[in-house]
Amino acid sequence: MFDLHMTPEEFRRAGYAAVDWVARYMGEIERYPVLSQVEPGEIRSHLPASPPEKGEPFEAVLRDLDEIIMPGITHWQSPNFFAYFSGNASGPSMLGDLVSSGLGVQGMMWATSPACTELETHVLDWLVDMLALPERFKSTTQGGGVIQDTGSSSSLCALLAARERATGFETNRRGIDRQLVAYASSHAHSSMEKNARIAGIGRDNLRLIDADESYAMRPEVLARTIEEDLAADRTPFFVTATVGTTSSHAIDPVRAIGKICRQHGLWLHVDAAHIGTAALCPEFRWIHEGLELADSYVFNPHKWMLTNLDCSAFYVTDREALIRTLTIVPEYLRTAASESGRVFDYRDWHIPLGRRFRSLKLWFVIRHYGVEGLQRYIREHVKLAQEFRSWVEEDDHFELAAPAPLSLVCFRLKGEDDLNQRLMDSLNDSGELYITHTKLDGRLVLRLAVDAPFTQRRHVERAWSLIQEPAEAVGRD
Ligand SMILES: *Cc1c(COP(=O)(O)O)cnc(C)c1O
Repeated sequence: MFDLHMTPEEFRRAGYAAVDWVARYMGEIERYPVLSQVEPGEIRSHLPASPPEKGEPFEAVLRDLDEIIMPGITHWQSPNFFAYFSGNASGPSMLGDLVSSGLGVQGMMWATSPACTELETHVLDWLVDMLALPERFKSTTQGGGVIQDTGSSSSLCALLAARERATGFETNRRGIDRQLVAYASSHAHSSMEKNARIAGIGRDNLRLIDADESYAMRPEVLARTIEEDLAADRTPFFVTATVGTTSSHAIDPVRAIGKICRQHGLWLHVDAAHIGTAALCPEFRWIHEGLELADSYVFNPHKWMLTNLDCSAFYVTDREALIRTLTIVPEYLRTAASESGRVFDYRDWHIPLGRRFRSLKLWFVIRHYGVEGLQRYIREHVKLAQEFRSWVEEDDHFELAAPAPLSLVCFRLKGEDDLNQRLMDSLNDSGELYITHTKLDGRLVLRLAVDAPFTQRRHVERAWSLIQEPAEAVGRD
């Protein structure tokens, strides 16, 4: 045997050391400044210019992990991480990923590892029940779900399938021969524009529809814009409704948008990448009102469902449209199972050919926490965020900047943008916590998202007092 491989015994020893390393990290995470404090180029300056000529002991690698890499880490798992959106990891998820790596399976087709495909189908059907999504997303109907790397890719696949369906599956062959038009709210995720560019729709043919005072799409403006495009002989084909915008968790009126889509035969895609997970709890399922009108739907377990990157759950009601859009079968990938039509080959459901065994970590997570445990987890975050919101509302120096239906609170210090910018910078420079900002109605707004895995009430309370102190000082002078 090639003599440089780790033997199973050596792997066990190094593996235990790596697990110890992660366990120690989780235990000590609050000791690190949340936002990495390094300057650009600083990490590279500590790395040798050339790779090692000869292999090195594993201990040396772990040592450099501590000394060189850790200063350049922003701690997404820290209970004081309130920035952007969540990027949850958890014990069972990490272990599921470890097993997936250990198996080293390439799950491009059913035949390349039947369990990789079947567990994925099964767990995604579970999620339909867990979130009370429409039955039409289940694999037992004409629809089905697939795990993709990201929400961005999922939405791109929706856009591509919609493009093909709207053009009789001819665009794949001939290229675009008419002016196709897509729609999303002006607060939709930036991937909508990126996807419009990639799919050849063109940025100018993505209409960003005005939002109302709660930053949700105005359906009457959507309807009017579609009419205008039709009158001008353009071809409307695709609408994205966002459930939980990245800026402020605004929720587009999916049912009203869906009715407009039905009227004109447009594909409705629903992007709930961040907050879809909230539907685990019956009391939050209102966020999905109207979802029965959707052709496709995406939410990211890799955000708020304790399943580390990457794991995006993408559903369609008409899997044939998706498969017909993306399938290509070179001779060397032909298998009897595929030809039998009795199996899913997930390589036909997304852009890459290769795919990891990602359903393992999702399965580990669901089995470890149980539905009830996951519900409690979400409820706790929402409760803490709502408490934070009430503190903001009660303080004269601050104002709420958007409705805060779930785990994200957008707020600002009353006054100039500059004041808010300075407050945020000083908080983040302190390393005590990490928050980010957005712009709403042209004004700088601070965002505090309560959805890191270990955040407790004491962390949110402390965040509020850290935010309040300088604000009070400012108010005094
Ligand atoms: C995070 C997010 C995305 C992008 O998800 P990725 O998996 O990072 O590509 C898209 N839409 C919304 C609403 C999001 O919150």
